[in-house]
Amino acid sequence: MRIMLLGPPGSGKGTLSERLEKELGFFHLSPGQLLREEVKRGTSLGKRIASYIDKGHLVPTNFVVEMVRLEMRGKKKVILDGFPRNREQAEAFADVKIDLVLYLDVSEKVAVERLSGRRVCVQQKHGFHVHHFPPKKKGVCDHDGSSLTKRKDDAPAIVRERFLVYRKETQPVIAYYRKKGLLREVDGNRDPGDVYREVKRIIMMGAPRKRVQKRK
Ligand SMILES: [Zn+2]
Repeated sequence: MRIMLLGPPGSGKGTLSERLEKELGFFHLSPGQLLREEVKRGTSLGKRIASYIDKGHLVPTNFVVEMVRLEMRGKKKVILDGFPRNREQAEAFADVKIDLVLYLDVSEKVAVERLSGRRVCVQQKHGFHVHHFPPKKKGVCDHDGSSLTKRKDDAPAIVRERFLVYRKETQPVIAYYRKKGLLREVDGNRDPGDVYREVKRIIMMGAPRKRVQKRK
Protein backbone atom coordinates (compact mmCIF):
# COMPACT_ATOMS: atom_id res chain seq x y z
CA MET A 1 0.00 0.00 0.00
CA ARG A 2 1.31 3.39 -1.00
CA ILE A 3 0.12 6.32 1.04
CA MET A 4 0.66 10.02 0.63
CA LEU A 5 0.61 11.94 3.88
CA LEU A 6 -0.15 15.64 3.59
CA GLY A 7 -0.56 18.22 6.30
CA PRO A 8 0.74 21.64 7.34
CA PRO A 9 3.80 22.07 9.55
CA GLY A 10 2.83 21.05 13.09
CA SER A 11 0.12 18.61 11.99
CA GLY A 12 2.13 15.66 13.30
CA LYS A 13 3.16 14.08 9.97
CA GLY A 14 6.62 13.18 11.22
CA THR A 15 5.40 11.55 14.43
CA LEU A 16 2.69 9.62 12.60
CA SER A 17 5.09 8.44 9.86
CA GLU A 18 7.58 7.18 12.43
CA ARG A 19 4.90 5.12 14.12
CA LEU A 20 3.61 3.69 10.85
CA GLU A 21 7.18 2.73 10.02
CA LYS A 22 7.90 1.11 13.39
CA GLU A 23 4.59 -0.64 13.98
CA LEU A 24 3.22 -1.40 10.54
CA GLY A 25 6.45 -1.76 8.57
CA PHE A 26 5.98 1.13 6.16
CA PHE A 27 8.98 2.64 4.44
CA HIS A 28 9.06 6.32 5.45
CA LEU A 29 9.99 8.48 2.50
CA SER A 30 10.33 12.21 3.10
CA PRO A 31 11.43 13.99 -0.07
CA GLY A 32 12.08 17.23 1.83
CA GLN A 33 14.43 15.40 4.15
CA LEU A 34 16.15 13.61 1.25
CA LEU A 35 16.88 16.95 -0.38
CA ARG A 36 18.27 18.40 2.85
CA GLU A 37 20.47 15.34 3.41
CA GLU A 38 21.88 15.54 -0.10
CA VAL A 39 22.76 19.20 0.48
CA LYS A 40 24.40 18.33 3.78
CA ARG A 41 26.54 15.62 2.15
CA GLY A 42 27.86 18.27 -0.23
CA THR A 43 27.69 16.05 -3.34
CA SER A 44 27.55 17.70 -6.76
CA LEU A 45 23.84 16.93 -6.76
CA GLY A 46 23.59 18.50 -3.31
CA LYS A 47 25.31 21.63 -4.54
CA ARG A 48 22.85 21.94 -7.40
CA ILE A 49 19.94 21.57 -4.99
CA ALA A 50 21.47 24.15 -2.64
CA SER A 51 21.80 26.65 -5.47
CA TYR A 52 18.01 26.64 -5.94
CA ILE A 53 17.24 26.76 -2.24
CA ASP A 54 19.76 29.53 -1.52
CA LYS A 55 18.17 31.72 -4.16
CA GLY A 56 14.79 31.09 -2.59
CA HIS A 57 13.63 29.05 -5.60
CA LEU A 58 11.78 25.77 -5.51
CA VAL A 59 13.76 22.73 -6.57
CA PRO A 60 12.49 21.92 -10.12
CA THR A 61 9.49 19.59 -10.24
CA ASN A 62 11.02 17.00 -12.58
CA PHE A 63 13.98 16.67 -10.32
CA VAL A 64 11.98 16.05 -7.14
CA VAL A 65 9.52 13.73 -8.87
CA GLU A 66 12.32 11.62 -10.41
CA MET A 67 14.02 11.34 -7.04
CA VAL A 68 10.81 10.12 -5.40
CA ARG A 69 10.20 7.59 -8.18
CA LEU A 70 13.69 6.15 -7.74
CA GLU A 71 13.35 5.90 -3.98
CA MET A 72 9.97 4.19 -4.22
CA ARG A 73 11.08 1.57 -6.69
CA GLY A 74 10.39 -1.99 -5.53
CA LYS A 75 8.83 -0.92 -2.24
CA LYS A 76 5.32 -2.12 -1.49
CA LYS A 77 4.51 -0.29 1.72
CA VAL A 78 5.46 3.35 1.48
CA ILE A 79 4.49 6.49 3.36
CA LEU A 80 5.24 9.55 1.26
CA ASP A 81 5.62 12.27 3.84
CA GLY A 82 4.95 15.82 2.68
CA PHE A 83 4.77 15.11 -1.03
CA PRO A 84 3.49 16.46 -3.40
CA ARG A 85 3.90 20.03 -2.25
CA ASN A 86 2.00 21.61 -5.11
CA ARG A 87 -0.30 20.86 -8.00
CA GLU A 88 2.53 20.70 -10.51
CA GLN A 89 4.27 17.92 -8.58
CA ALA A 90 0.96 16.06 -8.20
CA GLU A 91 0.33 16.13 -11.94
CA ALA A 92 3.87 15.02 -12.76
CA PHE A 93 3.30 12.04 -10.46
CA ALA A 94 -0.12 11.10 -11.87
CA ASP A 95 1.06 7.84 -13.48
CA VAL A 96 2.35 6.39 -10.20
CA LYS A 97 -0.20 4.22 -8.42
CA ILE A 98 -1.19 5.59 -5.03
CA ASP A 99 -3.77 3.85 -2.83
CA LEU A 100 -4.61 6.53 -0.33
CA VAL A 101 -4.00 10.21 0.35
CA LEU A 102 -4.29 11.26 3.98
CA TYR A 103 -4.72 14.90 4.84
CA LEU A 104 -3.82 15.59 8.43
CA ASP A 105 -5.47 18.89 9.22
CA VAL A 106 -4.54 21.08 12.16
CA SER A 107 -5.47 24.57 13.32
CA GLU A 108 -2.91 27.36 13.16
CA LYS A 109 -3.13 27.75 16.94
CA VAL A 110 -2.30 24.11 17.64
CA ALA A 111 0.51 24.12 15.06
CA VAL A 112 2.15 27.16 16.64
CA GLU A 113 1.87 25.69 20.12
CA ARG A 114 3.41 22.38 19.00
CA LEU A 115 6.25 23.78 16.95
CA SER A 116 7.26 26.64 19.21
CA GLY A 117 7.65 24.18 22.12
CA ARG A 118 9.82 21.82 20.12
CA ARG A 119 13.45 21.32 21.18
CA VAL A 120 16.26 19.30 19.64
CA CYS A 121 19.58 18.27 21.14
CA VAL A 122 22.67 19.78 19.54
CA GLN A 123 24.57 16.50 19.37
CA GLN A 124 22.23 13.96 17.77
CA LYS A 125 19.03 15.89 17.08
CA HIS A 126 16.93 13.95 19.60
CA GLY A 127 13.51 15.59 19.75
CA PHE A 128 11.61 16.86 22.81
CA HIS A 129 8.70 19.16 23.58
CA VAL A 130 8.47 21.48 26.57
CA HIS A 131 4.87 20.40 27.35
CA HIS A 132 4.13 17.17 25.51
CA PHE A 133 7.46 15.37 25.77
CA PRO A 134 9.74 17.16 28.23
CA PRO A 135 13.26 15.93 28.99
CA LYS A 136 13.96 14.65 32.53
CA LYS A 137 16.16 17.66 33.18
CA LYS A 138 15.20 21.02 31.66
CA GLY A 139 17.32 21.96 28.65
CA VAL A 140 19.32 18.71 28.63
CA CYS A 141 19.01 15.68 26.32
CA ASP A 142 18.00 12.45 28.11
CA HIS A 143 20.09 10.33 25.76
CA ASP A 144 23.43 12.05 25.43
CA GLY A 145 23.40 14.94 27.93
CA SER A 146 23.94 17.61 25.27
CA SER A 147 22.00 20.88 25.43
CA LEU A 148 18.62 21.43 23.78
CA THR A 149 17.95 24.21 21.29
CA LYS A 150 15.11 25.51 19.13
CA ARG A 151 15.08 25.23 15.38
CA LYS A 152 15.16 28.71 13.84
CA ASP A 153 12.08 28.08 11.73
CA ASP A 154 10.05 27.03 14.79
CA ALA A 155 9.75 30.63 16.04
CA PRO A 156 6.01 31.53 16.25
CA ALA A 157 6.10 34.23 13.52
CA ILE A 158 7.92 31.89 11.13
CA VAL A 159 5.60 28.99 11.94
CA ARG A 160 2.59 31.19 11.04
CA GLU A 161 4.23 32.13 7.75
CA ARG A 162 5.12 28.49 6.91
CA PHE A 163 1.59 27.50 7.79
CA LEU A 164 -0.02 30.04 5.44
CA VAL A 165 2.35 29.23 2.58
CA TYR A 166 1.65 25.52 3.01
CA ARG A 167 -2.13 25.98 2.98
CA LYS A 168 -1.95 28.11 -0.15
CA GLU A 169 0.27 25.68 -2.06
CA THR A 170 -1.49 22.53 -0.94
CA GLN A 171 -5.15 23.44 -1.32
CA PRO A 172 -5.07 22.67 -5.07
CA VAL A 173 -3.34 19.34 -4.27
CA ILE A 174 -6.09 18.41 -1.80
CA ALA A 175 -8.74 19.30 -4.36
CA TYR A 176 -6.92 17.22 -6.99
CA TYR A 177 -6.93 14.03 -4.89
CA ARG A 178 -10.43 14.60 -3.58
CA LYS A 179 -11.64 14.62 -7.16
CA LYS A 180 -9.81 11.33 -7.78
CA GLY A 181 -11.60 9.83 -4.77
CA LEU A 182 -8.34 9.08 -2.93
CA LEU A 183 -8.51 11.64 -0.16
CA ARG A 184 -9.25 10.96 3.50
CA GLU A 185 -9.16 13.82 6.00
CA VAL A 186 -8.01 13.20 9.54
CA ASP A 187 -8.30 15.66 12.44
CA GLY A 188 -4.70 16.26 13.51
CA ASN A 189 -5.58 18.52 16.44
CA ARG A 190 -6.00 15.52 18.72
CA ASP A 191 -3.55 13.49 20.74
CA PRO A 192 -1.01 11.74 18.44
CA GLY A 193 -2.09 8.33 19.82
CA ASP A 194 -5.71 8.92 18.78
CA VAL A 195 -4.60 10.10 15.35
CA TYR A 196 -2.47 6.98 14.91
CA ARG A 197 -5.35 4.66 15.86
CA GLU A 198 -7.70 6.32 13.40
CA VAL A 199 -5.13 6.17 10.59
CA LYS A 200 -4.43 2.52 11.36
CA ARG A 201 -8.14 1.78 11.10
CA ILE A 202 -8.32 3.58 7.75
CA ILE A 203 -5.34 1.61 6.44
CA MET A 204 -6.82 -1.70 7.57
CA MET A 205 -10.05 -0.90 5.73
CA GLY A 206 -8.09 -0.43 2.53
CA ALA A 207 -8.24 2.28 -0.08
CA PRO A 208 -11.27 4.56 -0.05
CA ARG A 209 -13.91 4.07 -2.67
CA LYS A 210 -15.66 6.87 -4.40
CA ARG A 211 -18.54 7.94 -2.24
CA VAL A 212 -21.82 6.52 -3.39
CA GLN A 213 -24.75 8.80 -2.87
CA LYS A 214 -27.37 7.31 -0.62
CA ARG A 215 -30.90 7.24 -1.92
CA LYS A 216 -33.55 8.43 0.45
ZN1 LIG B 1 20.49 13.87 22.21
